[in-house]
Amino acid sequence: VLEIAGLEKRFGATTALARVNLSVRAGEVVCVLGPSGSGKSTLLRCINLLERPDGGQIAIDAGSARFDLAFGPTARAVSGREMTRLRGHVGMVFQHFNLWPHKLAVENVTEGLLRVRRMAGPEAGRIAAGLLARVGLGGKLTAFPSQLSGGQRQRVAIARALAMRPDVMLFDEPTSALDPELVGEVLQVLEDVAASGMTMLVATHEMGFARRVADRVVFMDGGQIVEVASAEDFFERPQHERTIRFLEAVL
Ligand code: ATP
Ligand code: MG
Repeated sequence: VLEIAGLEKRFGATTALARVNLSVRAGEVVCVLGPSGSGKSTLLRCINLLERPDGGQIAIDAGSARFDLAFGPTARAVSGREMTRLRGHVGMVFQHFNLWPHKLAVENVTEGLLRVRRMAGPEAGRIAAGLLARVGLGGKLTAFPSQLSGGQRQRVAIARALAMRPDVMLFDEPTSALDPELVGEVLQVLEDVAASGMTMLVATHEMGFARRVADRVVFMDGGQIVEVASAEDFFERPQHERTIRFLEAVL
């Protein structure tokens, strides 16, 4: 589904991504681990074109749609129209849920369906109600974000992303802004989404989740992918000295 080759991103003198290669198969759950500043967010943001890579290629084969993007000084710029089209296939959930504060939970979910998909109101409402029920918020359709807990807000954000029926979902530390007792309910929703067959790339510091849910783990450090392994191999038999040190520090 997703093929990344030689992806590069610099911020001034900082190399955030140094020739990153990664391919993700349909239905696969890949957790991206690594210390702060290692490039996890930059990788996800480049895939969604929230950042413009300085070099490399991204290919997305989403069944109905194909994207072949090349970056670099001589590559053509990606048009705004193509970015919008791509984001319809690649959903993203952020650490800080970014909900519209003046819209109800259900309106946060229908917004994209109405505006981007040009769906009729009643149909969008029905889909939103179904998705909010799926994330355990069937009783909160008419709540404003300010009336919801952090965990509930994040579940609205996940429902909103699911509403667009993406082929790939990117999660950037979806639980790190939450109080510890609210982390579990959001991880449970992520696990359900994973079990539904969604292709997912999840940057996280939740080692238990990565171990339980990931098909593969990607470990980044200094803008590079240091190690890629099955979740079991990664946690039981880490190969690289840097990975071993990281796991010693966090487990
Ligand atoms: P964390 O676990 O703290 O979220 P991360 O692995 O997501 O870290 P990134 O946010 O991808 O790391 O950052 C990678 C590097 O790029 C860091 O050195 C960071 O300071 C730098 N960086 C990221 N975004 C920007 C930006 N907009 N401007 C300048 N430097 C940036
Ligand atoms: Mg980050």
